[in-house]
Amino acid sequence: MSTFQDLGLNDDLLQAITDLGFEKPSEVQEKAIPILLESETDLVALAQTGTGKTAAFGFPMLEKIDVSSRTTQGLILSPTRELCLQITNEMKLYGKYCKGLNVVAVYGGSSITDQAREIKRGAQIIVATPGRMKDMINRRLVDISKIQYSVLDEADEMLNMGFKEDITDILSHTPDDKNTWLFSATMPREVATIAKKFMHNPQEITVGNKNESTSNVSHEYYLVNARDRYQALKRLSDANPDIFSVIFCRTKRDTQKVAENLIEDGYSAGALHGDLSQNQRDLVMKSFRNQQIQMLVATDVAARGIDVDDITHVINYQLPDEIETYTHRSGRTGRAGKTGVSMVIVSKSEVRKIKSIERIINQKFEKKEIPDGADICEVQLMSLANKIHNTEINHEIDKHLSNINELFADTDKDELIKKFFSVEFTRFYNYYQKSKNLNVSESSSDREGGRDFRGGKNDSTRYFINVGGKDGFDWMSLKDFLKEQLGLGRDDVFKVETKDSFSFFNTENELKEKVLAHFTDFKHEGRFVNVEVSENRGGGGRRGDRRGGSGKRDGGKRRDDRRGGGRRDDRKGASGNRSERRKSDGGSKPRRSDSSDFGSSRPRRSRR
Ligand code: ADP
Ligand code: MG
Repeated sequence: MSTFQDLGLNDDLLQAITDLGFEKPSEVQEKAIPILLESETDLVALAQTGTGKTAAFGFPMLEKIDVSSRTTQGLILSPTRELCLQITNEMKLYGKYCKGLNVVAVYGGSSITDQAREIKRGAQIIVATPGRMKDMINRRLVDISKIQYSVLDEADEMLNMGFKEDITDILSHTPDDKNTWLFSATMPREVATIAKKFMHNPQEITVGNKNESTSNVSHEYYLVNARDRYQALKRLSDANPDIFSVIFCRTKRDTQKVAENLIEDGYSAGALHGDLSQNQRDLVMKSFRNQQIQMLVATDVAARGIDVDDITHVINYQLPDEIETYTHRSGRTGRAGKTGVSMVIVSKSEVRKIKSIERIINQKFEKKEIPDGADICEVQLMSLANKIHNTEINHEIDKHLSNINELFADTDKDELIKKFFSVEFTRFYNYYQKSKNLNVSESSSDREGGRDFRGGKNDSTRYFINVGGKDGFDWMSLKDFLKEQLGLGRDDVFKVETKDSFSFFNTENELKEKVLAHFTDFKHEGRFVNVEVSENRGGGGRRGDRRGGSGKRDGGKRRDDRRGGGRRDDRKGASGNRSERRKSDGGSKPRRSDSSDFGSSRPRRSRR
């Protein structure tokens, strides 16, 4: 593993890298930077989203251009305004010690004359969207005849968006002997054609397999009736209290509707699609970046610019029309070395698409069950308990303590705890207590008996364990850890599900004593690791006995479910804090700290 020094970057850039806190080059940087520094060559680089491509072309370009000249020497084309601004921003950060450097962003929706004026002042590097760039050239507001380095960033996206002609046109105004560096997450035929047409003997580098999505992402699908999609979405969110997600819908209409429903049901959600004004979109994106919005519902086109790290889940509310688009969706999570989950809600008629996607991404999906009400209640309760446990005490309370103590003089600790938790918990409990099972069974021949098909009988035990994502575990590493600790085989630990500060897993009933005995007074890396039998069975285990509700109950519930009625009424009842609602509309109300996070009347909360 090399360092940035080893790659041959100059001191100005190394200083900026130190400031940015980049410790070592990512794989695509390690491969691309030396090639681009050492030779005047064309390059095709394939790497997934979030792998650090901007710096892979950005550093070499900054090193190679002459900042003492005011001539435009570098042109970076990128598919969206959002990306264009992001790259410009990154380039400025990378080049902050390059004296005289001027990087200008050129994109639609903002004054073309202002942009032209900035370029006139001497922009060595222009970062542009193809449409606006072509416009500028046609109006002779820019001179790119001395370009030495051109970058096609997210080439596959640009072609997807129909920019082929614009790109061809723009490049025809640049010198033949320039170098072209093409960066792309996938290599569809159109990209290969472009490479052939515009490039001379390009060197090629590939990070990971061609067209493979980020390996930090695990893929899951959930089979439900089409009419239960929205219910399923809510449950997936409720089962992941710290979710920070992008939800993909197929049409603008669905996008708007799902977002509206979520907001109405008390979630912090926002919509992002092409029918919104640029200003509205900017606002939504700002709230999302600040994590004031936990669930961003978006169309594929609108989401193209989304480049937010820390997204924990991508939820495919519907699968995309073009299967290839799935790669782009799932690439929104698992960025910058983190792990992420891409979930797909499918109806029976779409299940075969999962197989096609598996082939394209070269990764397997895990079929999972939509958590039932009891699962969700337990997760919410434990998450709340952890939050309370980790909450810093606000000593403003001290002066009221004697009054409060008086009120609870006759309440013992257990009772107090129960009451305290009931404030939050009862809402979820009431909402979910009569909820139906949303899972649909797949015909048995569809998938070879994976570990999640242990039948509907209670032959397994579900455990709670007090370690999770915060302790560096994802479901795979926790499973490995448990297998190793318990000396068990590959399939003995299953349904491993990690939350932020705790997790769940299953074993066969026979192993229960062994598991519990092993984790009695057990310490891992200096802290007590506690395993308890969980009240519920983790999705599938309970199906049989949950189903049998009467038709009447189902029908009545559905309406409730759709409108989120039960929950909303309850919310009002709990504390009637109306300002709570405002937060979910994407406004810029400051995020609350963790300590004020529980006991609110709202089911959804902002993440830490
Ligand atoms: P891509 O263009 O491949 O999708 P980006 O260039 O946008 O990825 O980088 C993703 C994130 O990773 C950005 O926040 C970026 O600042 C960060 N990053 C890039 N290179 C490094 C590095 N070597 N070390 C740590 N973080 C990095
Ligand atoms: Mg990028």
